[in-house]
Formats: sequence, C-alpha cells, structure tokens
Amino acid sequence: MSPQLDHLQSHRTTVSDVVRSGLLSRSLAAVTAILLGAMAAIGSVDAAPRAKPDQIRYKYIRPTDPSHQAIYDQIKQGRALELLQQLLSPLRLPHPLTLKVASCDGVPDAWYGDEVVTLCYELLAEILKNATTRDLPAGVSKADTILGPALDVFLHETGHAVFDMLQIPVLGREEDAADQFSAYVMLRLSKAEARRMILGAAYLRAKELPEAEPLSSRDKFSDEHSMPAQRAFNVLCIAYGADKKLFADIVANDILPKQRAETCEIDYDDLTFAMTALIGPHIDKTSARKFHEVWTRTVSARRTRLNRQ
Ligand SMILES: [Zn+2]
Repeated sequence: MSPQLDHLQSHRTTVSDVVRSGLLSRSLAAVTAILLGAMAAIGSVDAAPRAKPDQIRYKYIRPTDPSHQAIYDQIKQGRALELLQQLLSPLRLPHPLTLKVASCDGVPDAWYGDEVVTLCYELLAEILKNATTRDLPAGVSKADTILGPALDVFLHETGHAVFDMLQIPVLGREEDAADQFSAYVMLRLSKAEARRMILGAAYLRAKELPEAEPLSSRDKFSDEHSMPAQRAFNVLCIAYGADKKLFADIVANDILPKQRAETCEIDYDDLTFAMTALIGPHIDKTSARKFHEVWTRTVSARRTRLNRQ
C-alpha cells in the first residue's frame, strides 16, 4: 500500500473507532450543550445603552499639505460635514459619532475607529482627480462623480460605526456589509438624487481598475474588501433591485450584465430585511422625513458650482 493510501486507511479506522466507541455521540452531545449555552448567553446579553438622535459631531482639521488647502476651503465653505451631520442625525446612537476630515501623511484612506470616522484629504484629492471631465451618457455629471464617491466613503465608514456602536450582528464580510449600508442609505434619497449618487459612486469604483495590476495578484484576492469591479457591480445591482425603472438603462446598456440583474431584486430584498430588522429600530422616524429636503436643497447649489469648475 502506498504511504498515501495507508494514511487514508488509518484515517478511516480512526473515524470508525470513534463511532463504535460512542465517542462521537458523546462529542455531539457536548457540542450541542455548548451551542445551547451560547444561545442562552446571546439571549441574555444586556440591552444596548440608551441611544438618541442628533449624535453626529464633525471636525475640519486643517491640512498639513498646502496643496490640499483648496479642498479644505471648499468643503468648509460648502458646509459638507454639516450636511452629512443633518443626513445622519436620525440615527439613534448611544454615544456621539464624529465625522472628521484630516491629513493622513500622504495616504489616500478613510476609516472608522473609536467613534470617529476619518476621511483623508488625500482620498478627496484622488476623488477629484478621477472625476469625469465630461458628462457621461447615463446623465452623470462631473459633480456626481465627486459627490457620489465622497458620500459613499462617508456612508461606508458610518456603516462600520453603526455596526460597532449599535452592536449589529454582521453575517458575511463586514466590508461588503458596509458597502450595502451605504447603497441602502443613498437609495433613501429622492429618486433623482439616489440615481446620481449611486452612479457617481459606481463610476469611481469602475475607474479603480488599474490595467497594470494583474487580477491574479494574491493581495487583491485576499483583501478584506471585494475587488473594485465587484463593489461597482454590487452597488449597481442593489440599485437596480430597488428600482428597476429608475435604473433600467444600466441593464439595457449592458453596464450591469443581464445575468446578474436577474437576482438583484432578491439581493435588495435581503438587504431591506436586514436594514429594517437591525438598523430600523435605531432610526428616529420623524427626523428621517426631513432627509430628502435637506439633501436636495443643500446639494443642488454645490453641484452647479462643481460642474462649472
Ligand atoms: Zn470598510
């Protein structure tokens, strides 16, 4: 017998020995007891601390790189963080959550930690650099390819904050869940705004496909985030699943492949179920109603200015 077969044989013997000796049934009983104990513990977890709306704070930190001064001036004058504060004010949180823009030593990044969402000027500079220079066929303007990705980044990080601060259970990868949180919130805007922001955000993801980088790269495949193209298709799929009329052209024009589009309604329904069951109880319904008005009023002026630049 070859060493490999010998190994298999000895493995089979071990398993059947376990079954014969009753060890397996005893082990199963032990595992069941542990699981039951764990479930009882979940049921007895103390309720989250008392949460309330209007818990969003913000900070504009002056950039250390002089080339980012113009971005600082623009977002400060445009009151970008104040707008986000208003948009997120319906969230009932147990502690304040701070939205911050800051310099990050040259690294284009954004993250959540210790009840602070940080967005780097370096990342905003990259978003500006990648914005389209001409209006796109789907009716997406230059401003949409700036505002959409910037909002998407903030909402993605806010998703991480919400999961953490409200102790929301996450099935699957948290990075994907944060993307879904962002897409869902964007889809709560008025139809026209939702479309602009979703397509703008997807545009940037699609642009993050560097041809020079081989797809087989281990780093790409093992990253905690899905790959940029997957993130773009996922957000488009959720949007299409939410409103097939509003986003009909992305399937008709083969931006989102028809095969994927077939299951998008299920994806969106799953997301709605999770958001309604898990996040819904933490939303102040009265202030959430102001959501659309605030956004439309504040953003339309900003869009006009960005499109002129
Ligand atoms: Zn993330």
